[in-house]
Amino acid sequence: MAASGKLASLRLPPLPTVSELIKLYNLRAEKHLSQNFLLDLRLTDKIVRQAGSLKGAHVCEVGPGPGGITRSILNAGAADLLVVEKDTRFLPGLKLLSEAAPGRLRMVHGDILTYRMDRGFPGNVSKSWQDDPPNLHIIGNLPFNVATPLIIKWLEHMANRTGPFAYGRTRLTLTFQKEVAERLTASTGSRQRSRLSIMAQYLCSVRSCFTIPGRAFVPKPEVDVGVVQFTPLVQPQVQQPFKLVERVVRNVFQFRRKYCHKGIEKLFPEACRPELTEEMMRRADVEPTLRPTELTIPHFRALADAYAYLCAREPGLLNYEFREELRLQHLARTRNTPVDAFTDGLPGPRQSR
Ligand code: SAM
Repeated sequence: MAASGKLASLRLPPLPTVSELIKLYNLRAEKHLSQNFLLDLRLTDKIVRQAGSLKGAHVCEVGPGPGGITRSILNAGAADLLVVEKDTRFLPGLKLLSEAAPGRLRMVHGDILTYRMDRGFPGNVSKSWQDDPPNLHIIGNLPFNVATPLIIKWLEHMANRTGPFAYGRTRLTLTFQKEVAERLTASTGSRQRSRLSIMAQYLCSVRSCFTIPGRAFVPKPEVDVGVVQFTPLVQPQVQQPFKLVERVVRNVFQFRRKYCHKGIEKLFPEACRPELTEEMMRRADVEPTLRPTELTIPHFRALADAYAYLCAREPGLLNYEFREELRLQHLARTRNTPVDAFTDGLPGPRQSR
């Protein structure tokens, strides 16, 4: 009773509705910023519930816009909500919310892609990586063209325990275009299995929460939207540097309908390609005729370990780019110069072992 009384006291006082606020401040959605608003507070409450209990929590909301999700986060009892919004037009409406929740809402006018989240919260929020996640959540309904680069950037931060993950295993609850949400959560063998599935799932437990039909947004986007929750794993399933894992996964999926060895070959310069591909597959004990979508996370772990071994043995290999080799070959052809003149330092043809 006392606890529910306390939560009731944290609820926002009567305010203009989100639609009224949009009219009041003339907040027309900007198409070039891909703005689509959620006005139904039952739906924003449902998104926020996916994050778990927010009582007394620190929260960062990305892209609050007219503040629907912001209200739900405050009503759920968050003690400290930091919102990062790029479009200044929303700041007066957010200020109104901050006045209604004294001391609980901080506003940052900025770009979430460059914002230094590791400086946004007090040090005492931090938990050790092995511990339970900290009482810090990131929640957001971002434009699709920001959400995908942002999650890739945050996955790298997660691997390096920097940015939002300087505080420990911070949980993220974010929206994506439904097709991207399906790729993030796709299991082995499914049609949606892709680079994004592996990169997300080797680092976190990824949960598909629910789908929001496009018609729930104003204006209505062309596609439906998926809500996805990410909880970083204590022990990532692949223990190699993020960039190395990303390189292996990107190469494997560049020929997603072919056998997996086809993409793996392109990790190696032409001069030693067959031998090193064969050695990598053998060391990893992965069947070369599996398709990229059929590979499990343990397969990727074995491939990344085998590739790391070869990179340690063969100087220059880690910097080799197949597309760069094509470019150099083209350059050599047009200048009538041997390709070797451009590729010094890369492993050459293999001696038999
Ligand atoms: N959260 C609101 C809602 O659900 O109604 C607005 C959602 S709208 C799809 C996305 C919001 O993110 C807009 O307010 C937009 O201005 C903001 N935004 C877009 N790019 C951003 C960026 N790089 N950094 C911070 N905010 C951004």
